[in-house]
Amino acid sequence: MEVVWRESPSLALANGHGLYHHLPGVITAKTDYLFAMARKSSLWPLTFGLACCAIEMIGAYMAEHDLDRFGVVTWPSPRQSDVMIIAGTAVKKMAEPIKLLWEQMPLPKWAIAMGACATDGGPFQRSYSTVQGADQIIPIDVYVPGCPPRPQALLYGIIKLQEKIMAEASNRKAAV
Ligand code: SF4
Repeated sequence: MEVVWRESPSLALANGHGLYHHLPGVITAKTDYLFAMARKSSLWPLTFGLACCAIEMIGAYMAEHDLDRFGVVTWPSPRQSDVMIIAGTAVKKMAEPIKLLWEQMPLPKWAIAMGACATDGGPFQRSYSTVQGADQIIPIDVYVPGCPPRPQALLYGIIKLQEKIMAEASNRKAAV
């Protein structure tokens, strides 16, 4: 029997990361890899913005940039969310609520720091009232630079997060 191998962009991406072809129409994969594919294609960010960067984040959800096509759907509850986007200035008063919401999110979960303020305090460097970077509150996976970053920059950050999720699944060793 001749084995026909038709490469699609998604399979090309998957090839070498735990997805194996045996026969036409037949593939096998590690469950870690399949779960990661599902997770990276259905990221639900908790919807809250802290300052001006939030407007750019909202813009990324609108029709022109359309984050829905990446499976990214905003969600107003930490219980079902798996991504926290810190969009804006985190003042010290907000640190505790951010931490509480983060702890209410189930595992696995990821965080994006959007903008200079969330990255390292930005224009509010050494301010008495501002947290000098969201990583002082929760662990951050992706930093999106800019003041403010455009929606395209957030889109790029989300693509980087998707790549990280797949890389983590590829690197995970089988449990013994
Ligand atoms: S990085 Fe700039 S645009 Fe974003 S919240 Fe801070 S001051 Fe506003």
